[in-house]
Amino acid sequence: MNYYLALVHAPVKNKLGEEVTTSVTNLDIHDIARSARTFGFKHYFIVTPITEQQVLVGRILGHWQTDTANEYNPDRQSALSYIKLVNTVAEAAAQIEALEGVKPLVVVTGANFKKYDGDEKALKQRIMLDNKPILLLFGTGWGLSDSLTNVADFKLEPIFGTAQDEYNHLSVRSAVAIYCDRLARN
Ligand code: SAM
Repeated sequence: MNYYLALVHAPVKNKLGEEVTTSVTNLDIHDIARSARTFGFKHYFIVTPITEQQVLVGRILGHWQTDTANEYNPDRQSALSYIKLVNTVAEAAAQIEALEGVKPLVVVTGANFKKYDGDEKALKQRIMLDNKPILLLFGTGWGLSDSLTNVADFKLEPIFGTAQDEYNHLSVRSAVAIYCDRLARN
């Protein structure tokens, strides 16, 4: 599996559909790192261009790099060590290219896509054909901005719920875990 994922804090949409930058949350750092690590993703990129946010994430990660934290919870330290902080999605893609010698296929996710390129099986077929790593993008706020989804290499089929009233509002952490499992198994 040659998979990378990124949680994007800019550019994302707000409730009005405008492009904004969101704040990083502690839960997203920990829970997504654990899913990514459990399902063999190579790195989890946290994308934020805001210096104060990067300092905050750096401080949280720094705490978990200490010997005391390692003794207390080595599994968590191991998951967090897979995190990389970047300013932009392009920077994450460039880091992957430097590691792999080839640009990644950028895959976007969203609950409300009306048109998409296929499900996880179709994505895997595409990966086999292209022989590239993937960079799977997840949004915060009201989701990834159009400036990212319109230029992505692959729009992944949304996760459809089964609620009779069509309620479908997963947290990003749940969506990550579901896709990680599907990609690992399909
Ligand atoms: N603060 C919110 C939270 O975590 O509850 C962030 C919501 S954000 C819009 C949720 C992100 O998770 C989406 O941008 C997308 O990447 C992913 N997501 C959520 N539900 C999804 C679904 N049904 N299908 C595909 N992706 C989904």
